[in-house]
Amino acid sequence: MATKIDGKRIAAEVRERVRQGVAELSEQGQRAPGLAVVLVGEDPASQVYVRNKTKACEKAGMVHKQLNLEASCSQETLLSVIDDLNKDESIDGILVQLPLPGHLDADLVIQNIRPDKDVDGFHPVNMGNLALGKQGFVPCTPLGVIEMLKSEGISLEGKSMVVVGRSNIVGKPMALLGIAASATVTVCHSRTQNLKSTVAAADIVVAAIGRPNFITADMVKEGAIVIDVGINRLDTGKLCGDVDYDAVEAKASFITPVPGGVGPMTIAMLLNNTLRSRQLRGC
Ligand code: NDP
Repeated sequence: MATKIDGKRIAAEVRERVRQGVAELSEQGQRAPGLAVVLVGEDPASQVYVRNKTKACEKAGMVHKQLNLEASCSQETLLSVIDDLNKDESIDGILVQLPLPGHLDADLVIQNIRPDKDVDGFHPVNMGNLALGKQGFVPCTPLGVIEMLKSEGISLEGKSMVVVGRSNIVGKPMALLGIAASATVTVCHSRTQNLKSTVAAADIVVAAIGRPNFITADMVKEGAIVIDVGINRLDTGKLCGDVDYDAVEAKASFITPVPGGVGPMTIAMLLNNTLRSRQLRGC
């Protein structure tokens, strides 16, 4: 039976460390870190994510600014909002909630965020630094996965790691973090042949697919470490991951649940990145 990796507990520890970091700044008479969140339109899921980020900021003692733009806003309006935030000395982190309405160019928007305020780690400069093994901001979800493994005392060095999913926000940065930690990394996607046997050979499996119960017990090696990034809502309204939890739990050595696994780590790492940005700015 696998050990369940408790993302809620680990995220709470990260958030407490951040809160202490913010308190130390205040004791030194320095300003608190500031995070700006830009929300375009009224997508209900995005509204929930933004509300959660705002609440987490408040609890950590950070300054937060939420900018709501109409779904119909122009590219120029959005870019000018970002330009203002780039220049705002009280703001250390800028996050544009994705997805954006179809008429807006998300790539262009991300490229216009100052890389040193890009606490989501999506800017090409930050992605490039990650690929090159240099310092920069790392996307929060895969960074959260690394933090969870660290917290459980799991080293990636020399292990075979299979990442299923190659998105820019999860799969690719996850693979790059695995390489940086000296794992031997394979990335699978919808065109992968022999996906089952590839996953079944892995010491560490990271599922970032977006398909309920995609990773079944027969695809997992005895004793593997299984990290489920997926968040899927079933017709019943219940949340589930990409891993068939009940069956895989019996074979794995460590496993993350959904909910309560990787999910809570994402916001915790966003706060962590924002504090880091503030500390690097030093003004
Ligand atoms: P994307 O849809 O951008 O990427 C999904 C990836 O899965 C793609 O690379 C796709 O391959 C691959 N895939 C899809 N179907 C198959 C298949 N049948 N076999 C193999 N690979 C397949 O999703 P994201 O990366 O944004 O998110 C993945 C999941 O993680 C989602 O459930 C999302 O909700 C969740 N998520 C959770 C977060 C958290 O905080 N815990 C944060 C972000 C995402 P291809 O490239 O070939 O199309």
